[in-house]
Amino acid sequence: MIYNIALLKGDGIGPEIIDSAVKVLEKTAEKFGDKFNFKPYLIGGAAIDATGQPLPQETVDGCLESDSVLLGAVGGYKWDNLSGEQRPEKALLGIRSALGLFTNLRPAKLYPALRNASPLKDEVVGNGFDIMIVRELTGGIYFGDRGYRQGKYGTEAYDTEAYSVTEIERIGRVAFETAVKRNKKLCSVDKANVLETSRLWRKVMHGLSEEYPEVEYSDMFVDNAAMQLVRNPRQFDVIVTSNMFGDILSDEASQITGSIGMLASASIGGLGEKPLSCRNDSEGKAQINGVPPFKNLGSKISLYEPIHGSAPDIAGKDIANPIAAILSGAMMMRYSFGRNDIAECIENAVDKVLEKGYRTADIAEKDGEYIKCSEMTERIVEFL
Ligand code: NAD
Repeated sequence: MIYNIALLKGDGIGPEIIDSAVKVLEKTAEKFGDKFNFKPYLIGGAAIDATGQPLPQETVDGCLESDSVLLGAVGGYKWDNLSGEQRPEKALLGIRSALGLFTNLRPAKLYPALRNASPLKDEVVGNGFDIMIVRELTGGIYFGDRGYRQGKYGTEAYDTEAYSVTEIERIGRVAFETAVKRNKKLCSVDKANVLETSRLWRKVMHGLSEEYPEVEYSDMFVDNAAMQLVRNPRQFDVIVTSNMFGDILSDEASQITGSIGMLASASIGGLGEKPLSCRNDSEGKAQINGVPPFKNLGSKISLYEPIHGSAPDIAGKDIANPIAAILSGAMMMRYSFGRNDIAECIENAVDKVLEKGYRTADIAEKDGEYIKCSEMTERIVEFL
């Protein structure tokens, strides 16, 4: 297969780690007989320096013409004094909205080899855990009606949360499909004992669960979920939740893994108003290895990126951990292209490199040995 991938390297360590991800993907192309056409576009500070804008139109057009987008990170000291609209980070919101990305997939995986990096006790993390948080990204209280008004006690500020059936259903489908591709367990997190939006959320999720009998479905209140993540993270496979709850829980989950240099993410791309129906693909193209990739959920282009930022403190020193970017490439293969074969090959190579004891500085034991970003990339390529 031929895949056209837009590369947004960005700033700081962005170019180093995206180059690593490209090397890994190119090696898999050799191995599996595929071809990647990588096309770089400017974003963030690099784009400001070259064009005066953090997100040039050419970048947006290039992403829209591609099959998928791989992003490094944006931002850095040089642009810290610019005002809001001109800052490199503005490009992130811009590209997410241009692609209509309504779902964020954030894995929180603790590798057995990195058990000591987790702040949780050994008996809690056991042999590691592997959770996927599916967060709604374009609705809810962050996008609701807001403002100031006169209330009972004088001036008050307010924010409101609204969710439509369509918004809940489309993210619900992504979550169920994600669970189907993983260990077939889905926990929907809400606050249905208090919030009306949560009660609708729960109703729609229950409806969907009947379409996915193979998925073991459960509900959990968000306060309990926050506790359970640190008490017994191994109980979770996939968690689906609203924008604000997902914002908070996904950061909590990433912290219990101990290293942000290891964590990838995906933002799943745009849909029209049409409710999704991934299981009746009229052209019959949806099933690849028995699993429909998200492209056939009616979505267009998705964006994959490490969860960390541009790390300007270590940029250009060849000491960044490239694994989050490399695993973002693996997520792209699985979720945009249905290529579990390539995704597993990359993930297994990362596992083996860690089991062999190779570490970059951020995940090395105190006073332990570590290798450079470029060498870590070479080791992973060798194990593919
Ligand atoms: P950061 O994630 O860039 O760095 C936090 C700490 O983690 C730093 O000490 C850094 O050296 C380390 N770190 C991050 N990634 C690493 C990796 N792959 N390997 C080894 N160590 C790593 O967050 P920050 O310092 O708050 O932000 C720096 C810049 O990045 C800011 O300009 C911020 O706005 C921007 N940012 C961009 C994104 C994005 O592009 N998606 C996300 C967050 C922050």
